[in-house]
Amino acid sequence: RKTMVVKIGSSTLVGEDRQIRRDFIADLARQAAELRNLGWNLVVVSSGAIACGAPKLGFAKKPADMPSLQACASVGQCILSAVYDEEFRAASLLTSLVLLTRHDTACRSSYLHARDALTRLVELGVVPVVNENDTTTVDEIKFGDNDTLAALVSCLVSADLCVTLSDIDGLYTANPSLDPTAQFIPRVTKIDAAIIGSAGDSTTSVGTGGMITKIRASRILMTAGIASVICSGAEENALVRLASGESVGTLFVPP
Ligand code: ADP
Repeated sequence: RKTMVVKIGSSTLVGEDRQIRRDFIADLARQAAELRNLGWNLVVVSSGAIACGAPKLGFAKKPADMPSLQACASVGQCILSAVYDEEFRAASLLTSLVLLTRHDTACRSSYLHARDALTRLVELGVVPVVNENDTTTVDEIKFGDNDTLAALVSCLVSADLCVTLSDIDGLYTANPSLDPTAQFIPRVTKIDAAIIGSAGDSTTSVGTGGMITKIRASRILMTAGIASVICSGAEENALVRLASGESVGTLFVPP
């Protein structure tokens, strides 16, 4: 069997109304069930805990101080996990929650523990939902963004493909929201200065990474020999189409 890791950004998971997009998670569960029939396992790396927790605690926007962010993450993670659990069970799939910190991949023995636990979950037919443990993790022990986390999780489970679902349909030669002449890049075989330069400075109000962290994550994956894709979360049936060999979004091909 093959394994796909899918990373879902906050802006894809949480709507303009600051509610979790349950319909999106339900569709993900439907695709996960179909992937299973195609011989693929799925691991989800999900952002959205803070974005989901903040309105529940009465914050009008994402708070600035660390303890409030940690409180939002703690509340939001619980609600988000419940939605994954409900929607995947409706598609006859079990999910599990795996919260990691950088410590878990920084030393060999904990790396192996994380690897063995994730591998066993996948073998048992579970769809692990992975996130950074934002409640207890402060800056110095952070992966920092889930694009990097998804790349490390892909290495842990020896993934065949890592898919990042974003608010944009792939990588362009420049940020298309600032530069109308930006051209779509369907395929990247080498991360050179031009590719890195294309990302510029890019973060949305709900996301934390921007395009540059996605490119850095793709570089980690290319080094590990793992293919990756950046495509839009709005792309219909994207995971199933990718598993069937169709090209969707920007493909980063390892050497
Ligand atoms: P997510 O929350 O899904 O992780 P981000 O908002 O962090 O997504 O990153 C995607 C955004 O990066 C795009 O919506 C776009 O505004 C910006 N961006 C900057 N440079 C580029 C580029 N070269 N190609 C595509 N998008 C870019």
